[in-house]
Amino acid sequence: MATAMSVSAVSPAATAVARPRTLVCVPATARAPREMAAELAAAAALGADVAELRLDLLAGFAPRRDLPIILAEPRPLPALVTYRPKWEGGEYEGDDERRLEALMLAMELGAEYVDIELKAADKFMRLLSGKKPENCKLIVSSHNYENTPSAEELADLVAQIQATGADIVKIATTATEIVDVARMFQILAHCQEKQVPIIGLVMNERGFISRVLCPKYGAYLTFGSLEKGRESAPAQPTAADLINLYNIRQIGPDTKVFGIIGKPVGHSKSPILHNEAFRSVGFNAVYVPFLVDDLAKFLNTYSSPDFAGFSCTIPHKEAAVRCCDEVDPIARDIGAVNTMVRRPDGKLVGYNTDYVGAISAIEDGIRASQQTDPTTSPLAGRLFVVIGAGGAGKALAYGAKEKGARVVIANRTFARAQELGNLIGGPALTLADLENYHPEEGMILANTTAIGMHPNVNETPLSKQALKSYAVVFDAVYTPKETRLLREAAECGATVVSGLEMFIRQAMGQFEHFTGMPVDNENFQAITSSLDNPNTMKPRL
Ligand code: NAP
Repeated sequence: MATAMSVSAVSPAATAVARPRTLVCVPATARAPREMAAELAAAAALGADVAELRLDLLAGFAPRRDLPIILAEPRPLPALVTYRPKWEGGEYEGDDERRLEALMLAMELGAEYVDIELKAADKFMRLLSGKKPENCKLIVSSHNYENTPSAEELADLVAQIQATGADIVKIATTATEIVDVARMFQILAHCQEKQVPIIGLVMNERGFISRVLCPKYGAYLTFGSLEKGRESAPAQPTAADLINLYNIRQIGPDTKVFGIIGKPVGHSKSPILHNEAFRSVGFNAVYVPFLVDDLAKFLNTYSSPDFAGFSCTIPHKEAAVRCCDEVDPIARDIGAVNTMVRRPDGKLVGYNTDYVGAISAIEDGIRASQQTDPTTSPLAGRLFVVIGAGGAGKALAYGAKEKGARVVIANRTFARAQELGNLIGGPALTLADLENYHPEEGMILANTTAIGMHPNVNETPLSKQALKSYAVVFDAVYTPKETRLLREAAECGATVVSGLEMFIRQAMGQFEHFTGMPVDNENFQAITSSLDNPNTMKPRL
């Protein structure tokens, strides 16, 4: 069994064994038998392969009365029957004999899979006394709701589960940090090599990638809920997101992994955008959210060539400069990296696509609303006020200065405003100063703080009264598309530019770095046209 902690230890050759595709299993969690049967049909309609019937969630469950209803033929999907006791994280609190008898009855009624906990597996095998129906596969499962053990301990667990006579091994652990998932990937890859069917998942938001990427390492199945709010475990994605957003059917050993590193990261629309962009050009890659606490540890752990590139957001953009082997000179000047690409020699190279994205969006916004000289930037010579001095603030300040604007920095922490002001040769203000700042007409304002971002949509970085001094207002916040700042600026007559434009343009730059392919502008605009629609699929963490 592999024991190294890094995913770099899992070689592509080890994962390239021919294998069946990873199944998508929808947990049926209804409280009544007929509703549970209906959930099977709904799961089939979503394109799932299997439905897990959680008998322990049924109210007043009576096996002989209810199982024939739930398992009635013809069934829309193969059934995986689970009757989880309280001592393993389920809801059944009664006598264990009755529980095991119900599972045996499910087998008799034709259930394709039955799940039994490792702690009860020997007893169940004795009860079965070799009479397991041929078409039924036995899943022996172990759940750890506290942590993810070492690779050695996980390997021992696999051996213990195999020793019970299981057809399929299931191990679910809990992530305390995202690097825990690497150990589960190692176990999956090892089991695949040995042709041991295994389900290996790491629960909670930091373990989310295990649910999407497990097909790359040959997992037998992964769970996806019927809809948001009906998860059977923390941070389970919906089956629709697995299939449509993450293109899970296309994920295999050679699929490259990209993603957005952040904390928080659940609000990001980057997975929607990049997965669709990859799909539209047939690029064999998947893009996931990485909830990362420690950037250096994350990059050291997921260091294989398969983890081919990353977007970087709050709060890691500045640390990313230090973590890259090489940094593009512009990104180094800005002091923030929002894009990391792994070169074929394994080295990580950092870029900043934020500044081009933001500045070109503002320039085009001005050109569309005012007569401008086409030979120079419409920012040249203008007073450009940046609120914020973090990664995005630095990118905007640097970009505006490059275009000949006179840049002023205002920030909550005044010392940081001064630091950035010194770097670009512009004055610094406090946020209070900004309320009465009106040295001239035609000023441009750029908010680069998260103020006004969902869910705090009623917040705004500057009063409406103060906004009257600006001719152009840009907001880096893009959820929602129209922030309170932009709404009030438009009411004051300013030209407004949405952070969504910056988001789309910085993502185009990333796409080029990730794929090495040129961006098809029209295609990208079409993909992104639905991003500000509240009904658009969102990654669910
Ligand atoms: P960052 O490096 O963490 O910087 C955050 C900045 O916001 C700092 O200057 C911080 O001030 C200030 N700030 C945070 N909370 C504040 C509050 N409650 N009141 C006043 N100031 C506050 O983050 P970042 O990467 O620059 O991102 C900032 C925002 O830009 C986020 O909303 C992000 O989503 C958005 N963004 C959008 C795009 C896009 O494509 N549209 C791209 C990048 C970023 P202190 O120095 O006092 O802490």
